[in-house]
Amino acid sequence: MPAQSNMLIDGPALWSDLMETARFGGTPKGGICRLALSDEDKSVRTWFAQTCEALGCTVTYDSMGNQFARRAGTCETLPPIMIGSHLDTQPTGGKFDGILGVLGGVAVLRALHSADVSTRHPIEVVNWTNEEGARFTPPMLASGVFGGAFTQEFARSRPDKNGITLGEALEQTGFVGEEDCGKHPACAYFELHIEQGPVLEAEEKTIGVVQGVQAMRWYDVTVTGQDAHAGTTPMTMRSDALWSAARMIDGVHQVAMNHAPDGLSTVGIIECLPASSNVIPGSVHFTVDLRHPSDGTLEIMEKEFYQTLEAIAASCGVEFSISPTWTSDAVHFDPLCVSFVEKSAQNLGYSARKIVSGAGHDAVYVARVVPTAMVFVPCWKGISHNEAESAEPHDVTAGANVLLHAVLQADSEMA
Ligand SMILES: [Zn+2]
Repeated sequence: MPAQSNMLIDGPALWSDLMETARFGGTPKGGICRLALSDEDKSVRTWFAQTCEALGCTVTYDSMGNQFARRAGTCETLPPIMIGSHLDTQPTGGKFDGILGVLGGVAVLRALHSADVSTRHPIEVVNWTNEEGARFTPPMLASGVFGGAFTQEFARSRPDKNGITLGEALEQTGFVGEEDCGKHPACAYFELHIEQGPVLEAEEKTIGVVQGVQAMRWYDVTVTGQDAHAGTTPMTMRSDALWSAARMIDGVHQVAMNHAPDGLSTVGIIECLPASSNVIPGSVHFTVDLRHPSDGTLEIMEKEFYQTLEAIAASCGVEFSISPTWTSDAVHFDPLCVSFVEKSAQNLGYSARKIVSGAGHDAVYVARVVPTAMVFVPCWKGISHNEAESAEPHDVTAGANVLLHAVLQADSEMA
């Protein structure tokens, strides 16, 4: 049967899946501790495989342990449309981060199955291994291999804190397939996720149409002055590294404010030496995190950051050095796939806004090799990576409905 434009997912069934799987690694405070490839992760992986098989799917694995649940299409030569996210969590994670994207995919499979709808493309729901990076760093390791950001050798060699490598954990759990990670074909990828920020809730919008992921740059800054006696050194004769750093931190804040509301700047770590209450500090180290959705604007912010520090150092009589430690370019999702998300939200009558993701997701790496889009739904106070993480059933249902219709549009319009 062809799909109907008023077709909807079963919201209560999706909610009950979210609550049922939250038992695997459930914490007393209502969160989840389900580290990648742990016993709890094995349980939820088995649940996912069995649930999808009961919906008529075939479940396979690639060499990074990514799980693919495939519902056949009428034209099996077409590459599948993928839906996915991750089932692993932080040690004190919540019930929605990642899980909603996989179980939202299960809700799509269930809707297609119970309405006996056939699609041209096969539809696949993917559970990416080790997205959180809580057991094996860095985050998004397996989707990173899929997208070509990491080699498989690097990913499989990553150790946990007991020295067990991801490769060893994969062999032990048995969730590993013959297919080389990254060789799995796909014509589109959709990921549903909680926003992990406060914007949708504050603006009372149900759906975030994610345009991409902002660019980020990290720096280490060292300010060098002169240790001196707090009681004998006149104010005009000091080279105070901490006072200078305080002004620099204010300057870093101003750089982002110059590019409001999208520019972001954060100083998250500060160390001061010699750290004695009657010594003028001679050395301060702090970190800077700059972000903006546009690579070009971030470039300008970086220039302003350097100039600001130069001016302050000159007026305060200190030396300074800046070393860049990490950069990540902006990601722009596929315009056609993004338009499917936007139209679906519109057709279903949900309030929506364009949004740029501030956090990393599997979709970032998948987007390197497959046309990709994401759907955000609000979460309570924007809180995430926390046992208190929460979302409303009607928002969760809305997100999965948008996912379903984006997939149906992709099925009719993409080759
Ligand atoms: Zn996530």
